[in-house]
Amino acid sequence: MDLFKPVDLQKTEENINIQNIEKVRCLIIGSGPAGYTAAIYAARANLKPVLYTGMQMGGQLTTTTEVENFPGYPEGITGPEMMEDLKKQAARFDTDIRFGIATNADFSGNKHKITIDENKIIEADTVIIATGATAKYLGMEAEKKYAGMGVSACATCDGFFYKKKDVAVVGGGDTACEEATYLSGLCNKVYMIVRRDVLRASKAMQEKVIKIPNIEILWEHQTVDLIGVNGVEGAILVKKKGTPQEETVKIKIDGFFLAIGHSPNSDIFRKYLELDETGYIKTIPGTSKTIIPGVFAAGDVQDPHYRQAVTAAGSGCIAAIDAERYLSEKKNI
Ligand code: FAD
Ligand code: NAP
Repeated sequence: MDLFKPVDLQKTEENINIQNIEKVRCLIIGSGPAGYTAAIYAARANLKPVLYTGMQMGGQLTTTTEVENFPGYPEGITGPEMMEDLKKQAARFDTDIRFGIATNADFSGNKHKITIDENKIIEADTVIIATGATAKYLGMEAEKKYAGMGVSACATCDGFFYKKKDVAVVGGGDTACEEATYLSGLCNKVYMIVRRDVLRASKAMQEKVIKIPNIEILWEHQTVDLIGVNGVEGAILVKKKGTPQEETVKIKIDGFFLAIGHSPNSDIFRKYLELDETGYIKTIPGTSKTIIPGVFAAGDVQDPHYRQAVTAAGSGCIAAIDAERYLSEKKNI
């Protein structure tokens, strides 16, 4: 799958054969920690969940090597292995796991309609949206070349592998400042590559990073390439691009961390659900409920703040319990 290419999933339901409509009690969209955890709980509650994996079966963690902070794995585990375990656990309780992409949503009626692969409609009593969020990348070829070999979009996850090394963080927002601060405690040196002459981050965050001695901010720098033989060994930057003072700068680094924002995978739900200004689905605080009864959201797609596997799994559990209670209450009316 091409992780760097945005996909337009917004398609209409036109021309779908009426026979290609299936009714289900609980539809789960997404196969990351949130989706599989929701499936485990929904299946055990006898909701007979159908789960569509999307194109990234197993979610974001399949793009990383070691996961060392998910409870229950004292020695750590690779992301793909962990997601295979979660999948097996969901399948053990008879979750119907299918490969397919939700390409459209219609929450206008009592039955929630989700189009799969533009050719099938699922009519669901409850829908759990667990479509995650995708880290933004700069779009350089080198990011693909060195994926998992020095390029990362998650310092909390991968920072440990760069202990006592030199790294760079791209971005000037709160996330970049947080990532740089975190890395400064592990690494020898942290460059912040900031495209303007100011940080977008909050004042408090700015003051914090500026005081940390092993963080160096490279103002008005943009990355144009990464270099290295078996992994990242350096970055080529351009300072003051497009001005008479433009110059090329080379830095020696072992890790290159993107912190230029995340895009939640919520586009197809935009018409019916409330989203925040970045596109995260808004839920009623403390629950997974969206503004549409019977439609729930879990994991990174509704979480602009924590974005961790364990928090995604926890919110998947909440969504399944909310779905089960919704169905029980509906039955009793
Ligand atoms: P995701 O894992 O993003 O899964 C989303 C799922 O939805 C995917 O299966 C996708 O195919 C599916 N999907 C999307 N759109 C559609 C659609 N239209 N139709 C059907 N399916 C769809 N967290 C940690 O706690 N520890 C770590 O060590 C760690 N390491 C990380 C390393 C990297 C490189 C990255 C990128 C992230 C890391 N994270 C880590 C963060 C963690 O991966 C996420 O917080 C977590 O995966 C979010 O889970 P999720 O289920 O909400 O979504
Ligand atoms: P953000 O605020 O959108 O900042 C993104 C940063 O990346 C900006 O500095 C931006 O530069 C830079 N950037 C974007 N595209 C780039 C590109 N192509 N090349 C180089 N630089 C690029 O994103 P965020 O930092 O992830 O924060 C998202 C939201 O979460 C914000 O509301 C933030 O306040 C919040 N947040 C809060 C906390 C906290 O309170 N502790 C922590 C993390 C995040 P420009 O400034 O030039 O546009």
